[in-house]
Amino acid sequence: MGMEIKRKNTIFTGTQMDIQDLYKCVHCGLCLSSCPTYTVLGKETDSPRGRIAYMKAIYEEKTDLTPRIVSHLDSCLQCRACESVCPSGVPFGRLMEHTKSYIVNQKKYSFFRSVINKFLYKIVFPKPFILSLTSIAIKVYKSLQIHKIRIIKPTFMTPLDKMITDTPKEVFRAEGSVFYSSTTDNKKSVALLSGCVMPIVQSDTMRATVRVLNKNGCDVFVPELQKCCGALNIHGGDLEGAKSLAKANIDAFIELDIEAIIVVSGGCGAIMKEYYDLFQNDPDYLEKAIKFSSKVKDIAEYLIEIPIIKPEKKLNYNVTYQDSCHLSNVQKITTPPRKLLEEIEGITIIEMEDNKCCGAAGVYSLFHKEMSSVLAGSKMDSIESTRADVVISGNPGCMIQINGEASKRKSSIKVMHLVDILDEAYTYPS
Ligand code: SF4
Ligand code: SF4
Repeated sequence: MGMEIKRKNTIFTGTQMDIQDLYKCVHCGLCLSSCPTYTVLGKETDSPRGRIAYMKAIYEEKTDLTPRIVSHLDSCLQCRACESVCPSGVPFGRLMEHTKSYIVNQKKYSFFRSVINKFLYKIVFPKPFILSLTSIAIKVYKSLQIHKIRIIKPTFMTPLDKMITDTPKEVFRAEGSVFYSSTTDNKKSVALLSGCVMPIVQSDTMRATVRVLNKNGCDVFVPELQKCCGALNIHGGDLEGAKSLAKANIDAFIELDIEAIIVVSGGCGAIMKEYYDLFQNDPDYLEKAIKFSSKVKDIAEYLIEIPIIKPEKKLNYNVTYQDSCHLSNVQKITTPPRKLLEEIEGITIIEMEDNKCCGAAGVYSLFHKEMSSVLAGSKMDSIESTRADVVISGNPGCMIQINGEASKRKSSIKVMHLVDILDEAYTYPS
């Protein structure tokens, strides 16, 4: 006999949370040791099981959504490490996304937090124009060397200094659809998600991606009308905002005659592969979203499939590979990046003993600076214990976080995206 589930009130309506999912947790605790916040704090209230218990208690009207409960729920990194080890198949990521949306709808965040949320999710990420202003602001920040003037700088800027000073001069794509043609035979056609932040702060990696794809016989199309993937909106509880960004991206890519939509950010790819989840009550877009999601491929996943031309150059690096949470826990992509690294002659891969979340988690560090910093510190300890020269990642957020921590420690370790090292190992016609 199935369990009868109480439906006493309308809690969590206004979101599409499947309440049955709350009751899949059998309290086994197998997820606890995978949870970064539980590992640091050692408290049930900051564990996956504890957070699910809060969600249930709210649904069953056993408690209000108090500031203390909001704080335990909000400190979740949404890394989904718990989900990937759960034997009962609790879809923790989805539960937390709807819970965040509920917190927003119930106006349970502080005034300051709500203003920042609105600014980020409604103004910055969805609007390419505002993002282009950001690139101008970064240029001014760099040319005036504001990172050296400690006295006038707000504290939240400190971890971003390294990212800003490393930002390349040229953005990847300011405007206009762009087509990059491969000169090889047996051509394949792909489209590339340029994203919101990467074309500005990691534009060199975007250019390297195009070169690596071209080298491997892919024509690359970068659609003009694409937008931010919406991952940050989803994680911040702005499901409606995420839906509108997802619609824009589906419309921008769906009619293209391409094999795959290539993504070089683990976090963006994870959300884009789950776009259909946003349209369960929207039959007009559900079918299109399923088709769209089926074409989304992480760059490592795609390059292994086609497969790649062996890189010509020998690179004498000891490298360690950082598994991004959304690439490993959600997309389950852990072997392809390592196999691609093995293709490069001279590379030695040294695995970290502990490969937990680095604490980046989108904009998490803005609101949970202490936890984010503890996790960045233990990630850096793991990286340093490998004695690698280079740490490779498949997610821009992790790269920014690790780079910031490395610069704090004055470490000489180089942080590279997987495509950056492949690009370095290839030769191109001049
Ligand atoms: S592993 Fe799954 S079922 Fe077990 S406590 Fe964690 S969420 Fe619940
Ligand atoms: S998503 Fe990550 S931080 Fe949140 S409860 Fe699960 S393991 Fe812990």
